[in-house]
Amino acid sequence: MTIAPLRILHVASEVAPFSKSGGLADVCSSLPPALAEHGHDVVVISPFYGSLREFVSSGYLHTTSITLNNREFPIAFTEHKHLTQRVRYLFIQCEELYGRPGYYYDPATNRDYEDNDARFAMLACAALTWCQLNNWVPQVVHGHDWQSGSLPLFMRSPRFGGLFDNSRFVFTIHNMAFQGRFHGGARVWFDHSDEYAELGGPAEFHGMLNLLKLAIEMADAINTVSPTYAHELRTIEHMGFGLGPLLHKRHSHFFGILNGLDTTVWNPETDEELEVRYTATTLALRNRNKRALCEKCGLQYDQAMPVVSMVTRVSEQKGFSVLLPIVGDLISSPAQLIILGNGDPAYESQLKSLERAYPQRIKLITEYNEPLSHLIYGGTDMFLMPSLFEPCGLSQMMALRYGAPPIARETGGLADTISDYSHNPVSGTGFLFREYSSHALSHALKRAFFMFRDTARWRKIQRHGMKEDFSWRRSARVYEEMYRRALAAPRVFE
Ligand code: ADP
Repeated sequence: MTIAPLRILHVASEVAPFSKSGGLADVCSSLPPALAEHGHDVVVISPFYGSLREFVSSGYLHTTSITLNNREFPIAFTEHKHLTQRVRYLFIQCEELYGRPGYYYDPATNRDYEDNDARFAMLACAALTWCQLNNWVPQVVHGHDWQSGSLPLFMRSPRFGGLFDNSRFVFTIHNMAFQGRFHGGARVWFDHSDEYAELGGPAEFHGMLNLLKLAIEMADAINTVSPTYAHELRTIEHMGFGLGPLLHKRHSHFFGILNGLDTTVWNPETDEELEVRYTATTLALRNRNKRALCEKCGLQYDQAMPVVSMVTRVSEQKGFSVLLPIVGDLISSPAQLIILGNGDPAYESQLKSLERAYPQRIKLITEYNEPLSHLIYGGTDMFLMPSLFEPCGLSQMMALRYGAPPIARETGGLADTISDYSHNPVSGTGFLFREYSSHALSHALKRAFFMFRDTARWRKIQRHGMKEDFSWRRSARVYEEMYRRALAAPRVFE
């Protein structure tokens, strides 16, 4: 079904390629253009972090000042047309709040910035201020994750004089584990918070201010990024990190919509970061990428020995506690292991000592490196995602598209996007395991290694994955349908 063109404002703390720590950034750079393709007028607003200075801007569109908590902050808005001419990507420049390294925490100390309450109150308030300055009133204000969770408070603020009274607030949960919890005193940064952050109010959770809860309570429609994760959040207690019952209560407004990929960026046929480009019919060429990858990682290239890779945040969520105990078994299979990612210092140091013990077999690259990630997807034989939970996961879709069958835990979006080859030899695309244990992971790895030895069969598995359609075409329609429903009903919260 098509719907009349809408004005849609996306407010997000990350947008690729400008700022990215994970899948949220990819979604915020690829869903908006997919909506614009359908004729909608789409604006994306995000902070201008210190690390964005390398991007050339169009110059200031507006300079103004915004007062929060009785303090006046000078603000400038810049526009970048780097991504697409059809979507306007606007950035909020506020030196005092954003002009520093790191998005949420200080990379030097690994500690959250203490003024994240002010920083992300400003994101919501400044985004709406831009609309006011331009007299551009969105029908849909679409917030992503807790960083934009205070939008419904500011939408009701007297400072906007009822400008957003007919707008609907739609909210996407990219990861329930991150909730934006602040002590009660933080409310001073948020308009209207006396009313809404009071005990028992939508923003209050166990005496704290919780921006994710606030957004879930007040949104006219809510979604998360895969159908299975939506189901898990409602039905498995620990998955909701305390907010499962609330989602259950809001189930008639809560949807699971699978993310897509920007298939113009993630395409092995055109990817400039690869040593050699290839398609599903020229898969033999892929070995040249494997060779280049091994060389870059200082590992010996051996066509017959599987290279297993991860491109990931190094965190509990990503399954390191089940992987670490079996790394020795994995490499003695034999196989090589490449991990590109950084994060939890404890896991990083365990991985580093394994790398020191087996330098021929393990390479750990503790940095964020987008070009190398492309070569990994295009060169690795298999892609590993033993996640404890996975809201959607984009990496497995990239791996599938690049002909690297994933070995993954059957949870969230991994369950929705990977079909297990052993159960489904006609169209299976990877190897799944259900129980969160080293034993189950080890078993899945063994199955994959066994299949890898049979090149003809392996090619079939690769091709099945490469044939899958992970574009935004379908999901963008489902988002439109969610907007339509939200607009057709009265506002949930007055
Ligand atoms: P999450 O959002 O939980 O981090 P996703 O799988 O949804 O996980 O998205 C991860 C995205 O971030 C993918 O595009 C992946 O390639 C990218 N990524 C993660 N770590 C790195 C890294 N160290 N270097 C380059 N890209 C990375």
